[in-house]
Amino acid sequence: MTDFTMKKDADGVALITWDAEAKSMNVLTMEGAAELSALIDEALADASVKGVVLTSGKKDFAGGMDLNVIAGMKAGGAQGVFDGVMGLHHLLRKIELAGMDAKTKKGGKPIATALPGTALGIGLELPLATHRIFAADNPKAKIGLPEIMVGIFPGGGGTTRLTRKLGAMMAAPFLLEGKLSDPTKAKAAGLIDEVVADPVAAAREWVLKATDADLVKPWDAKGYKMPGGEPYHPAGFMTFVGASAMVHGKTMGVYPAAKALLSAVYEGALVPFDTALKIEARWFTNLLMNPSSSAMIRSLFINKEALEKGANRPEAPDQTVKKLGILGAGMMGAGIAYVSAMAGIEVVLIDNAQDAAERGKAYSTGLLDKAISRRKSTEEKKAEVLARITATTDYAALQGCDLIVEAVFEDPTVKADVTKRAEAVIPGDAIFATNTSTLPISGLAKASARPEQFIGIHFFSPVDKMLLVEIIKGKETGPRAVAKALDFVRQIRKTPIVVNDARFFYANRCIIPYINEGIRMVAEGVSPVLIENAAKMMGMPLGPLQLVDETSIDLGVKIAKATRAAMGDAYPDGAIDEVIFKLADAGRLGRKAKAGFYDYDEAGKRQGLWSGIADAWPEAETQPDLTEIQHRLMFIQSLEAVRALEEGVLEDIREGDVGAILGWGFAPWSGGPFSWLDIMGAERAAAISGDLAAKFGPRFAVPKLLSDMVAKGESFYGPEGAAHKAA
Ligand code: NAD
Repeated sequence: MTDFTMKKDADGVALITWDAEAKSMNVLTMEGAAELSALIDEALADASVKGVVLTSGKKDFAGGMDLNVIAGMKAGGAQGVFDGVMGLHHLLRKIELAGMDAKTKKGGKPIATALPGTALGIGLELPLATHRIFAADNPKAKIGLPEIMVGIFPGGGGTTRLTRKLGAMMAAPFLLEGKLSDPTKAKAAGLIDEVVADPVAAAREWVLKATDADLVKPWDAKGYKMPGGEPYHPAGFMTFVGASAMVHGKTMGVYPAAKALLSAVYEGALVPFDTALKIEARWFTNLLMNPSSSAMIRSLFINKEALEKGANRPEAPDQTVKKLGILGAGMMGAGIAYVSAMAGIEVVLIDNAQDAAERGKAYSTGLLDKAISRRKSTEEKKAEVLARITATTDYAALQGCDLIVEAVFEDPTVKADVTKRAEAVIPGDAIFATNTSTLPISGLAKASARPEQFIGIHFFSPVDKMLLVEIIKGKETGPRAVAKALDFVRQIRKTPIVVNDARFFYANRCIIPYINEGIRMVAEGVSPVLIENAAKMMGMPLGPLQLVDETSIDLGVKIAKATRAAMGDAYPDGAIDEVIFKLADAGRLGRKAKAGFYDYDEAGKRQGLWSGIADAWPEAETQPDLTEIQHRLMFIQSLEAVRALEEGVLEDIREGDVGAILGWGFAPWSGGPFSWLDIMGAERAAAISGDLAAKFGPRFAVPKLLSDMVAKGESFYGPEGAAHKAA
């Protein structure tokens, strides 16, 4: 393997080019780092080399560290991680000091980086160790340190260098939020030094002219003071106190990466640079040994990407969608039209009346206008996207569509009617998908003349924001329909999971019990504030009561009535109905009615919890323990996920975990319900679930799959993190 190569020119500039074999984007591996280290040694030792320019042979510089390597580093235990990270620090420090005399700081060789495009993670940490960074004037390039987004922090010196370069306050958005910038903004923020047309030429020129003083980093120079002040400086003190509170407020203390990052920054700021690097490495090791970070990397990076690349795609020729027909231009149809037209797909958007179809198309106009006002789009782009959407009532316009997505009213008769009308027009090999959220796919497929070409493609609302799409196989759905749905989801850049047909599919099946458990507690007299905070302190983005306000109370009433009708006497949720029926009768239908479990102001902004809750359902004198509430809220979702796997609705736990985080925000720090149960261990999980079942009823009963795992000493992902498939 050769990732890095070096070429010396007649002027004495050594050009090191990073061009990872067989990869479209450079990512750093341990082998790659060793190659780079050897080349730097060679350049520093070679008297004919005056300086070094580091660049990439690809259109981008680098996407970061190979996260598979980070995941694998844990094999060597904490010491292995620490040694690996320190090895990297050593290499970067060697580049930074570039052979200069330790006392006089003279005699080093200038090393500059030339970034042709994107530089992320270690792809920016490495340039930060060089003496000057030149970036191509490429507005598509993204520059930054996104590590925090996958549950780690910049551990290749980025944390220490950026804090010392910009000061803690200015570095915060890049380190704590993973903010990415284009080259111009990155220069303005001080992340890089220059934006030029030809970065390699500019870097070369700079290297040939650089003086000894140009090579000494501020933190290696005498009298260095951290911009914005160190922790015990009055201004710095304010920054750190504020940052701690802000981070804790945002993360509720459940994201170990944010805490570890802040600790590395704070403690590092109190000591000399090389000690700070060691502290950074210790915190990074601490973080990698925390199961949350591996679970987040696994779900949010490795498995999410695998699913997007078609890990569960059946063998079938390319099914890229060229012309899409959408039936129903309501909230969902309009959103699906927008994301599809944005992806370059020609769209026919059908509704009963022309003005309804036009309204559906106008939704795209609205979103594009908003993007233009935020300088995220242009008039030309808007015209191009809108030209792809034909709004009509005429089913004949569906001719030539290779995929139909039906999003009409949730009524089997209406759905059957539009299925027949569309199938009369579309080509014989077209695939027909329904966006139903509650009706079984196999039942709806009965209206189709080609049930093997009939499938569920379930979007979440709002379509343009939600990243997950659930693909549902009916009893007769064939492999080409699955491939088509997956290729479509890939075109519109969302993440797919493929599940089998069962009531509420996967996401809604797990989220409804979460909402219900919250409402049940209100009926029991548990303080609503306690319920909402308990959920948030477990890392749920919304408490169950806020969530039901968002999705609307009347939808809850509708689902409750349908479920009661289907289950008859076995219906277990009477206590919940009492609460939501009462709210619905009082017109408190949730956010859209500006009244629900919460109060809202005139503009629809959420205020506090509604004081009337306490009148209708008085708070019990003794309130349950916080942990018990948290267990109820987390187990009710996770046990449902296990049952979905047990019943074969889910076929792959990777989909269960990724789908839970993207679909309904299941505590992302945990990596998803299966990862969460693994972190706890099957034995403890089964014991807690058993206790909850004894106290609150059979909805918490230990699933057989879980008790079998306890008996066999197994976990979902297994010791190697391999995906556990349903039998
Ligand atoms: P909606 O009421 O906003 O839109 C439905 C649209 O279909 C309306 O514009 C209506 O005029 C049109 N329509 C009705 N009959 C038609 C016919 N015969 N031919 C053409 N158009 C017709 O509903 P929605 O929220 O967009 O939901 C649509 C579907 O998506 C439903 O099956 C729903 O279960 C599902 N869904 C909804 C959500 C959600 O959050 N709202 C989420 C996922 C899935």
